[in-house]
Amino acid sequence: QPSSSGQPSESGSTKQDLQRYEGTDFPWSKELQKQLSAVFQLRSFRPLQLLSINLTMSGRDVFLVMPTGRGKSLCYQLPAVCSEGFTLVIAPLVSLMEDQLMYLKAIGVSAVTLNASSSKEHAKLVMAGMTQQKTPFRLLYVTPEKISKSKLLMSRLEKANQAGTLERIAVDEVHCCSQWGHDFRPDYKLLGILKRQFPKVPLIGLTATATSSVLKDCQKMLCVPDPLTLTAPFNRPNLYYQVRIKENNSEHAMDDIAKLILEKYKDQSGIIYVFSQKDAEALSADLQKKGIVAQPYHANMEFADKSRVHRHWSSNKIQVVVATVAFGMGIDKTDVRFIIHHSLSKSIENYYQESGRAGRDDKPADCILYFGFADIFRVSTMVVMENVGQQKLMQMVAYCQNLDRCRRTVMASHFDEIWDDDDCNQMCDVCRHGNDYITVDITEHAREAVQVIEMATSMKEKVTPLKLTETWMGKGSAKRRKMVQVTTLSRLEVEAILAHLLQQGYFSEDFSFTPYNTIVYLKLGRKAALLKNDKHTITLKMKRNSPISDSVKMSRSGSSAQTKGGKRSGGKAGGTPPATKKIKEVL
Ligand code: ADP
Ligand code: MG
Ligand code: ZN
Repeated sequence: QPSSSGQPSESGSTKQDLQRYEGTDFPWSKELQKQLSAVFQLRSFRPLQLLSINLTMSGRDVFLVMPTGRGKSLCYQLPAVCSEGFTLVIAPLVSLMEDQLMYLKAIGVSAVTLNASSSKEHAKLVMAGMTQQKTPFRLLYVTPEKISKSKLLMSRLEKANQAGTLERIAVDEVHCCSQWGHDFRPDYKLLGILKRQFPKVPLIGLTATATSSVLKDCQKMLCVPDPLTLTAPFNRPNLYYQVRIKENNSEHAMDDIAKLILEKYKDQSGIIYVFSQKDAEALSADLQKKGIVAQPYHANMEFADKSRVHRHWSSNKIQVVVATVAFGMGIDKTDVRFIIHHSLSKSIENYYQESGRAGRDDKPADCILYFGFADIFRVSTMVVMENVGQQKLMQMVAYCQNLDRCRRTVMASHFDEIWDDDDCNQMCDVCRHGNDYITVDITEHAREAVQVIEMATSMKEKVTPLKLTETWMGKGSAKRRKMVQVTTLSRLEVEAILAHLLQQGYFSEDFSFTPYNTIVYLKLGRKAALLKNDKHTITLKMKRNSPISDSVKMSRSGSSAQTKGGKRSGGKAGGTPPATKKIKEVL
């Protein structure tokens, strides 16, 4: 009994059973090989392609998880070409379908689509073709909306099923079925109707990123009783992962990025992902001023402009696209040397997918993420409507703050992958720069920050993250300064601590909706009460050579005016007596 979990090689019986399906002695094997080279002009299969094709052609339901650009489409296109009837393909975007149709047309495969802009005549022809003995098209592409909204289509599918011409169902970007996935589409949830109506028609679901819990959810949504899940190795050995701390209210990140592009990535192709349309335009204009050939890309641009930017970037007329996540699906440029995130992604899945567009040619490429405190809250207002949005974002924050685990290990454990740290080969900042961090005790700081919130609450006020930062740092009114224990930590230290407390559940977010925007406040979280216990400690790992740890080691003079307590602790700077409470190094 083949298992539906994990990699095929994980369990003995599964492995044996699957090995059988990697063979070339099936009734369709000769035809496959022939069309692979005749139609697709390809010499050999990539890992998992033949296996999934044989499985789907044997009538099994398959979920295929394979990084973007590795060739998932072939796994349903080649079976379609080798079949008499047609394959129903569900894809989320009309633009994606059009790309595929263009490609299929170019290689001489007959494929059609039905979408909102199809003419009546075209729809009629397609509907009629569906039940012809050898259907006039091998693939029929539709959006999930079409399935859920068009009764006519459903009734034609019924007829096709009776006539035996509905060979196979392919659900592209299958993770869109699950609210746990990073790209949930409500209409995908209704696709369960397909397996319920056509239980004998094999279904193949494809995605680049899905955790096993997302896949379980998809299986349920699609009503697939017992699918085989094939997972390609998630590791991209040629990508170097790095997180850089982004300073607040400064041009720092932008200068840093411009310098990288002008020097390290001179003449090389890349993408900068930004949070908003406004950021895309602003950052792109800034880069242009520095002589970099950059263009913005976001969802609100005219279709023609989007397609021009995409084309010019693909042909290297544009070096850098400064884009929102709208720039994604359908990118097949292989020589992308850098993917820079100007602010964090909304989840680790999203980050993996976005950064994974680098280095598809298997040559080294960099994935750099700028992590800024304020960005956390910009993203959290964006995902506020998503069920598990905050939870996923906090996992992303933990990834960014992580200093002691290989970045690949963090991702692997997120995707339930088995992973050995050594396999990173120093291709992440943590592995390369070693364990150059210190563990500091931030319990007292946490208590202070909690007091700021309690003080505000007692005055029936709410605090935004910015207000909390500034009040704690003594930038509020004199009255406020008297009411709280002002910290002498640097801004970056304060932000690192607050982000950690939020991510650990000492704080939580409190959203307030106005007609124009969403405001985030911070309130005490489920773990805040633990701080009432004297024995409770909170530690945080901080970089030794960052501005943060410099101020840990050095005492700061001139800041004592802001402090009330002025407790002396054993600072490490010889000579200068520490004026205020410092971060305590515990290890
Ligand atoms: P995915 O859907 O996994 O992101 P695609 O199906 O769009 O990837 O394929 C990406 C690229 O890989 C395409 O240009 C395709 O022609 C190429 N490709 C697919 N299979 C093979 C193969 N066996 N050998 C070489 N190239 C392949
Ligand atoms: Mg694809
Ligand atoms: Zn590593």
